[in-house]
Amino acid sequence: MADDCLFCKIVTGEIPASIVYRDDRIVAFNDINPQAPLHALVVPTRHIATLNALSADDDALVGEVVRRAGIIAKDKGFEAHGYRTVFNTNAAAGQTVFHIHLHLLAGRKFTWPPG
Ligand code: 5GP
Ligand code: ZN
Repeated sequence: MADDCLFCKIVTGEIPASIVYRDDRIVAFNDINPQAPLHALVVPTRHIATLNALSADDDALVGEVVRRAGIIAKDKGFEAHGYRTVFNTNAAAGQTVFHIHLHLLAGRKFTWPPG
C-alpha cells in the first residue's frame, strides 16, 4: 500500500468505488469517467506503480489481471462482440494514476490506431 495512491485507497475501501470484482489479489471497479458503456479498471491489490516495475515474480498476478478482465467482459455479454484492454504507462501514454490498472472498455466500436 502506498499512502498517497488513489487506487490503493480504493482497494482498502478508504475511497468508495463501484466494485465489479474483488478477491485478495485483484479488485475491479468502474471508471469514474467512463469512455465506453463498460469501462472498468482491473488492478492488483498490491501497489505496483507502472509496468516498468514488474518482475518475473509478478507474472502470475498480471496474468490474473488480464484473465479477470476477460471474465468480466464475458459476464457483461461482450465476449463475442469484442472489447478493448489497455495499460497506459507514463506520460506519453497518458498514465495519470501510478498504480497499474488494466482498462477494460466495451459497448462501442473502437478505432485503430488509438488516439
Ligand atoms: P490512466 O490515465 O492512468 O490510464 O487511467 C486512470 C483512470 O482512472 C482514468 O480513466 C480515470 O477516469 C480513472 N479515475 C481517476 N480517479 C478515479 C476515481 O477516484 N475513481 C475511479 N473509479 N476512477 C478514477
Ligand atoms: Zn497503489
